[in-house]
Amino acid sequence: MQVVVVIVGNGAVGKSSMIQRYCRGVFTKGYKKTIGVDFLEKPLRILSQDVRLMLWDTAGQEEFDAITKAYYRGAQACVVAFSTTDRASFQAVKKWRKKVEDECGGSSIPMVLVQNKIDLMHQSAVTNEEVEALAQECNMRIYRTSVKEDINICNVFQHLAENYVNQI
Ligand code: GDP
Repeated sequence: MQVVVVIVGNGAVGKSSMIQRYCRGVFTKGYKKTIGVDFLEKPLRILSQDVRLMLWDTAGQEEFDAITKAYYRGAQACVVAFSTTDRASFQAVKKWRKKVEDECGGSSIPMVLVQNKIDLMHQSAVTNEEVEALAQECNMRIYRTSVKEDINICNVFQHLAENYVNQI
């Protein structure tokens, strides 16, 4: 089975890097984005089923609604990401969540909240309390990740894939 996952959030929170890390096992500091929507695949085995995650990267087109909307429409699972060091990206979480929900026609798809760049906790622009409050309010599970240090990335996608398989 194939599961389309979209990763949304403000620019520079680490969405492209997360996909590269998860699917290719690499971290490149100045990863050059391709223009246009691209995807990478990751095969997984979940509850004795073969699952192919298709990770869509909306590379730098966060603000081009018409383009990204079409991709959100086909999403079966979603990561809403923000960066530990970027308060505006945290404040934009609800907006991103709503965009995806609106395009998925109200059918609720598995979604998780990802706080990336936890290796930069010393430069944190958010408190744990406010992150937890937001997660609770949005009813989303939080994963604190570092793409750079490869912390918790696999767990994010494993959780989404399990949720998806369990719900169908
Ligand atoms: P996108 O615009 O959301 O796709 O963000 P990118 O993947 O292009 O990442 C933006 C910048 O943040 C790049 O310079 C990445 O190398 C860097 N970055 C991504 N994840 C991490 C992380 O976990 N820790 C640190 N320190 N830098 C990161």
